[in-house]
Amino acid sequence: MTELLYLPDADDVTEFEATVTEAAEEYIILEGTYFYPEGGGQPADRGTLSWDGGEATVRDVRKNHGDVRHYLDTVEGTLPAVGETVAGAVDAGRRAALRRMHTAQHVVSRVVLAEFDATTAGNQIHEDRSRIDFEPANFDDADIETIERETNAVLDRDLAVSKAERPREQVEAETPEGRTQLDLIPDHVDPLRVVEIEDFDICPCGGTHVDRLGTVGHISVLDRTSKGADVDRLEFELVDA
Ligand SMILES: [Zn+2]
Repeated sequence: MTELLYLPDADDVTEFEATVTEAAEEYIILEGTYFYPEGGGQPADRGTLSWDGGEATVRDVRKNHGDVRHYLDTVEGTLPAVGETVAGAVDAGRRAALRRMHTAQHVVSRVVLAEFDATTAGNQIHEDRSRIDFEPANFDDADIETIERETNAVLDRDLAVSKAERPREQVEAETPEGRTQLDLIPDHVDPLRVVEIEDFDICPCGGTHVDRLGTVGHISVLDRTSKGADVDRLEFELVDA
């Protein structure tokens, strides 16, 4: 089992040391990691692992039965031994971009729920542009303008974003109807890691997010596509506020 050290609220840590529990040709497993493994619509972190006599580029990070595999691109030197300490460095620029994007996604999702009563059926975050699928939704140009305006007004409030573990029962009571598909989270997951934006939003989520909305910038909607009778996909990027 790899301990997910970025949880519940160490989203800003990008340099750390950890002990090797498995070193294969393709990947390294650590006792604990600050690298984010792909999941929940957020891509994996990238970065490097280095140790006495070697260094490797981490090209992908995946969960595998409770372990986190850091997939290696190029290994210089020899692989570290089990029990050896390695230094991890997450690509900080990429992490920062993904934190901003993921937080923006929470705000857009909440704004659309409040304004149009549409739930977030899926989302995919990237460094440069992200997308969210809403259901039921059939947005027109005026709706898109409303979503942009309302989202950017919330981002300008510079609210604090806190992340914490909470009892599942409490999270189920406090998360608004339609905000997220809580029933998709297996029943045994308790407590839940929750991302709370002051008095504006609360949502269980395991990804990485900023600490204040003021660091996100503004959103700009790039595209709207219909993904079926009832589902609309919005793509957006971040621009400086
Ligand atoms: Zn999130």
